[in-house]
Amino acid sequence: MPIESYNPYTDRVLRRFSAFSWSKTERILAQADKAARAWRGTTFAHRAGVLHRAAALLRQRQDELARLMALEMGKPVVDGRAEVQKCAACCDFYADKAEEFLADELIQTDAGRSFISYQPLGVVLAVMPWNFPLWQVVRFAAPALMAGNVGLLKHASNVPQCALALEQVFHDAGLPPAAFRSLLIGSDLVEKLIEDDRVQAVTLTGSEGAGSAVAATSGRHIKKTVLELGGSDPFLVLADADLPLAAKTAAQARMINAGQSCIAAKRFIVEKPVLKEFIRLLKGHLLEMQTGDPLDEATQYGPLARPDLADDLTRQVEDSVAQGAKVELFGGQSQPGSALFRPMILSNVKPGQRAYEEELFGPVALVLEAKDAADALRLANDSRFGLGAAIWTQDLKKGEQLAREIESGAVFVNGLVKSMNELPFGGVKKSGYGRELSYLGIREFVNQKSVWIG
Ligand code: NAP
Repeated sequence: MPIESYNPYTDRVLRRFSAFSWSKTERILAQADKAARAWRGTTFAHRAGVLHRAAALLRQRQDELARLMALEMGKPVVDGRAEVQKCAACCDFYADKAEEFLADELIQTDAGRSFISYQPLGVVLAVMPWNFPLWQVVRFAAPALMAGNVGLLKHASNVPQCALALEQVFHDAGLPPAAFRSLLIGSDLVEKLIEDDRVQAVTLTGSEGAGSAVAATSGRHIKKTVLELGGSDPFLVLADADLPLAAKTAAQARMINAGQSCIAAKRFIVEKPVLKEFIRLLKGHLLEMQTGDPLDEATQYGPLARPDLADDLTRQVEDSVAQGAKVELFGGQSQPGSALFRPMILSNVKPGQRAYEEELFGPVALVLEAKDAADALRLANDSRFGLGAAIWTQDLKKGEQLAREIESGAVFVNGLVKSMNELPFGGVKKSGYGRELSYLGIREFVNQKSVWIG
């Protein structure tokens, strides 16, 4: 795939970039390796100063960064500004908390004194997706830099301008330039980078295929990985739920980033007595949502990030319908080859259909009928994925009990699934492994060293 900025709303190429050669990439890697040795020796206070300045710059530049995301991948500017603010808050969070999260931990043993010391690893390679072009990167970079690591970013090929703008923020904040670089490379050079001894660890957010490829190479070279992969999050609506609120949140949850979010609710598993009413309410909310130019302040959802993604989603829907799914809300792609895709609802989604088995990365809500709460739990867990989940019930005890039994990295009872600085984020099953955010996230890319002093 070329490294190309392309506007999915106007169908125009904005800018083309020549991909870095291996020799250029290797030069940057050598500089990063050198920078890692110096950066690990800086104090937490020094690193916190840089991260706080990065946060301030992000806030200052929120309009231009939101505009860039709107142009490069179709995110409405209102959502883009919220994403930038979230990034700024994450930089502040780790600037304030890293020292506490990585303080020596005293452990009682037979030693005079023994403790765990958390030390940086060095150069960490981050392979990132386009859907939250700033947030996905910052939630890796802020803790990694605060821990004393340096970062090399291989961003998705369709968001090079976002990658460069973020690099600029860190550099302007006073980070040594070699400590965070955006590599404009295709995925073909990723393997070579992982093979290099100067890369100590790899984090990837993206699809199962990319995760598996990166983990396989990393495994061959004994390198730590964190994988944040796809999801087909269940959203359970029990018969006693606050139905209007559940349906309103369901529409919001399915339409995050035009449906292109790993933790967007994708499978709505509804108890039979409230199924029809839930579909009616959900349909109403989806039809109310305004689409249009992502640069327009009133736009609530934009186009998908690339036309080929809309083509793929159309095929998944058509195959599922041919396999027995029923269309409750007609929408979809305006025409083949277009990135514009209106929300859809499919019901009668059953095992064996593509919609049941695969992740649908766009605004298609799948409704599954559950006989009772136990059946809803069974359906929720009958998935290769395990990222987020939501449960709607007025019986909080039952909600908590189900939350414990759901196979996922996070569960929200009566709330919208979201990532937060304070809580760990990650998946189980084919949604990946390892955690980002919270104190667990910053401890992924450190040497958790045991020190025993007699
Ligand atoms: P993708 O195609 O897997 O791309 C993600 C990144 O991996 C891009 O930088 C891509 O580079 C690179 N890549 C692709 N194939 C590779 C390979 N064989 N070796 C090395 N690198 C490779 O995913 P996407 O379409 O951008 O994103 C959508 C997927 O990401 C969905 O499944 C979504 O659920 C998941 N996601 C997960 C999370 C989470 O936190 N769990 C968050 C957001 C998205 P190129 O662009 O150059 O191909």
